[in-house]
Amino acid sequence: MKIKKLDIYQHDLPVNNGPYTMANAEVWALDTTLVKITTDTGVVGWGETCPVGPTYAEAHASGARAALIEMAPGLIGTQVLPLKVHRKMASLLNGHHYAKAAIDIATHDALGKAIGLPLADLLGGAVTDRIPSYYATGVGMPDEIARLASEKQAEGYPRLQIKVGGRPIEIDIEVIAKVWEQIEGTGMRLAVDGNRGWTTRDVLRVSRELVHIPFVMEQPCNTIQDLEKIRPQIQHAIYMDENSVDLATVIQAVGRELVDGFGMKVTRIGGLQPMQTFRDICEARALPHTCDDAWGGDIIAAACTHIGATITPRLNEGVWLAQPYIEGHYDGKNPVKIDGGHIELPVGPGLGVAPDEQMFGAPVAFF
Ligand SMILES: [Mg+2]
Repeated sequence: MKIKKLDIYQHDLPVNNGPYTMANAEVWALDTTLVKITTDTGVVGWGETCPVGPTYAEAHASGARAALIEMAPGLIGTQVLPLKVHRKMASLLNGHHYAKAAIDIATHDALGKAIGLPLADLLGGAVTDRIPSYYATGVGMPDEIARLASEKQAEGYPRLQIKVGGRPIEIDIEVIAKVWEQIEGTGMRLAVDGNRGWTTRDVLRVSRELVHIPFVMEQPCNTIQDLEKIRPQIQHAIYMDENSVDLATVIQAVGRELVDGFGMKVTRIGGLQPMQTFRDICEARALPHTCDDAWGGDIIAAACTHIGATITPRLNEGVWLAQPYIEGHYDGKNPVKIDGGHIELPVGPGLGVAPDEQMFGAPVAFF
């Protein structure tokens, strides 16, 4: 089974009650990119990649489409097998994992459909059909975030992530303390995500003043050097998110014992093929991690949920979905959504999601 045709689509996803605020970005709408692979046997596979604006990571929406257009002609005729597709992509373009991830997801979808297996089985086998999620607040004021924390705890979310940074550190400290007052003793786990926005000075102060609160510090500072600097000085666990740009970086961070876990994005690392390797590295060293993505619609959501279903439960920090923050679904019959803080594994072969392609209009490019 070979790739016969490749269509690339652009689609806008408006953010509900926008903007969504992080230390380095304000998001009003998402510009997502979809890929449709059609094989020589008539099987269709869908992929997606959706950078959350141009400042969250070294990725942007038109960059994704340019990279896909660069690779697409060379991919025609390639066998629909994930490793072969990845090696072909590496021979056509260096880097640009977030664009390659869309092809990777479409390849897995097509392969799953062709052999009649859901993606979770193709990725090693689901350990659950009800995958834990976590709720991520935007950067907000103490009372508002504390209210959201108890609301989300009551809804059944096992974990909360609060966004901080980009403002006086005293406000961040007050937010964390107020949130903990609401969720202490409930069993809800807490992560504090700086999205690279804190200085090492800020981290030392937060960790010292809130030493009694057991939160995980997710990507507090901008660089790996910053993480190395704070590592021996703080009591809190550190997770790496934005800095873990590829498997080589992950191996180095794990080998040097720089982190206690990861926030990992399927598209940042290049798709489901490298994501399986990442999952197995984490399992070998008992490192908890998320399995999600920087926004996107039902295709991304289904891909994250399938790989999330394969993670050993004690290391599963959850699958975050953009679904509560955006309007509508690509697949009205089988939408991927969060209910009671958990996500039901889509059923059926491949992703288990059939997008209504009328929504996307004409392709911006096809090969
Ligand atoms: Mg993060």
